[in-house]
Amino acid sequence: MQLYVISRPTIDWQAVERFLHDHAAEWRRTPESTAPDELVELAGRLCYFSFGTHQSPRSNRAYIANLIMRGHDSVLEHSVWTFILSGVSRAFTHQLVRHRVGVSFSQLSQQYYDEANAEFVPPPELRGHPSLEDVWQSSVEHSLNAYRLIAQELHSESFSGISSKDATEKQTEVKRAIRSAARSVLPNATETKVVMTINARALRHFFKIRGSIVGDAEMRIVAAKLLDSVLLDAPSLFGDFYAEDMGDGSPIVRQREAYDVA
Ligand SMILES: Cc1cc2nc3c(=O)[nH]c(=O)nc-3n(C[C@H](O)[C@H](O)[C@H](O)COP(=O)(O)OP(=O)(O)OC[C@H]3O[C@@H](n4cnc5c(N)ncnc54)[C@H](O)[C@@H]3O)c2cc1C
Repeated sequence: MQLYVISRPTIDWQAVERFLHDHAAEWRRTPESTAPDELVELAGRLCYFSFGTHQSPRSNRAYIANLIMRGHDSVLEHSVWTFILSGVSRAFTHQLVRHRVGVSFSQLSQQYYDEANAEFVPPPELRGHPSLEDVWQSSVEHSLNAYRLIAQELHSESFSGISSKDATEKQTEVKRAIRSAARSVLPNATETKVVMTINARALRHFFKIRGSIVGDAEMRIVAAKLLDSVLLDAPSLFGDFYAEDMGDGSPIVRQREAYDVA
């Protein structure tokens, strides 16, 4: 699978300086902190107006760990990322898009997009089972051939009665109907792409409930790649998560019980 981070949190420091100046506030920032981490700290500090003499000596990491420990997680929602996930299976995205809160999706349509040249994502669990890989390969090829046949036959039939003068909308709906019928034979392994915009709170929830499901390798692989990216961007927001090898070359995302704020 391929992961592209296409948008990440940034801070307009001139605006922040203006705000602090207008309110005679001084914010002692933690050196080397990142924008996604500082955005959350700033939002938290605004709640209590803990600037200047009211600012505790906590580092950015300790500040965020304290927010999380106290359940003040809504502050984490200010830091938002947008990813493109490509080379993932429809089985995976069906589970992914069940996440409803703090996350938005835009996925490749099988009604607008012709899947005649679809690719398929082999389940990592089949690695090392050559005879099962063969069974899998011939099964997806069989499905793809069925897709092509259904689409082709319906296309010739449906478009024989449609003149080029017919409205584009009618043609679009005919194509949609054809692809709706044809796609019904495509397997869960069909490759897809999805844009996901997600905030730090929702992403932490995702890591917690999805990152360590032993029997779901594709989910773990995606979770570990996501964690890899956001750990670089926001070490304080995600510092209690880490990925390790399961021993078979696939990763698993774990959460430390205690948030190490050192
Ligand atoms: C191991 C595992 C097995 C699963 N098996 C199945 C299965 O067999 N069948 C199936 O259909 N799904 C299954 N799921 C999917 C699961 O039920 C959720 O739909 C999915 O994981 C999204 O989780 P979520 O609701 O916590 O996340 P989100 O939808 O992002 O919600 C985040 C949080 O917001 C709160 N929240 C969201 N909506 C509401 C609401 N309406 N009311 C109150 N609080 C709300 C909850 O605290 C929730 O945890 C499984 C998930 C896992 C991890």
